[in-house]
Amino acid sequence: MDFTVKKYKELLKSLIDQNYTFQTFEEFLKEPAAKSIVLRHDVDLLPNNSLRFAQIQAENNVKGVYYFRAVPESWDETIIRKIAALGHEVGYHYENLTTCKGDLEKGITDFKNNLTALRKLVPVATICMHGSPMSKHDSKDLWKKYSYSDYSIIGEPYFDVDFDNVFYITDTGRKWDGDKVSVRDKVNTSFKFSYHATQDIIDALAKSELPDRIMFTFHPQRWHSNSFMWYKELILQNIKNSIKKVFFVK
Ligand SMILES: [Zn+2]
Repeated sequence: MDFTVKKYKELLKSLIDQNYTFQTFEEFLKEPAAKSIVLRHDVDLLPNNSLRFAQIQAENNVKGVYYFRAVPESWDETIIRKIAALGHEVGYHYENLTTCKGDLEKGITDFKNNLTALRKLVPVATICMHGSPMSKHDSKDLWKKYSYSDYSIIGEPYFDVDFDNVFYITDTGRKWDGDKVSVRDKVNTSFKFSYHATQDIIDALAKSELPDRIMFTFHPQRWHSNSFMWYKELILQNIKNSIKKVFFVK
């Protein structure tokens, strides 16, 4: 079974064995290590799963970045504080043009308010767009008119990472090559690596095949330690994929 907490631990161990430096996104932007991994987590829902990831990393002296949405299914203040206290970075997973239906002015006000609310809990230096595949609005468009640096934000992965230099890999759709069919969670890159199962990545790591700089995006809500939840996620994912196919004919 793939995308289980057990498999996650195996993956983390094989990354540690390759002597990468685990950096938060903020640290990576300020001073990237020669061999660096940013473990990025989009906390779309089920924040307890993210807390589990954060604890496993902390037990292994590893840190990453966790992006929380300003919606009840993600925003758990106890968990936000706990994850930051474990040494991880917390950022804002914004979706303001989706929630404000494309209205830029309402969107930036919503952005400002949510960022302020998050900063009351923890320091926030970076943000990351939530893809909202079912929405026709792309929240990154907020930055066609406004600038996040005006809000003391130093980076957004989709704008501030050179993905020809940093290998990007995401568990979108509970497979590692699902970004090809993703609506928004994709980047322009010249890297030719492609992996499907977590074991494929572990095998590649054992052969030292992976590049020196990597951003891994995890959606911890897709990773389970209990088989009922694991199958529930599989069924939900299949439903979502068929809906996406209907709405986003490319
Ligand atoms: Zn998201």
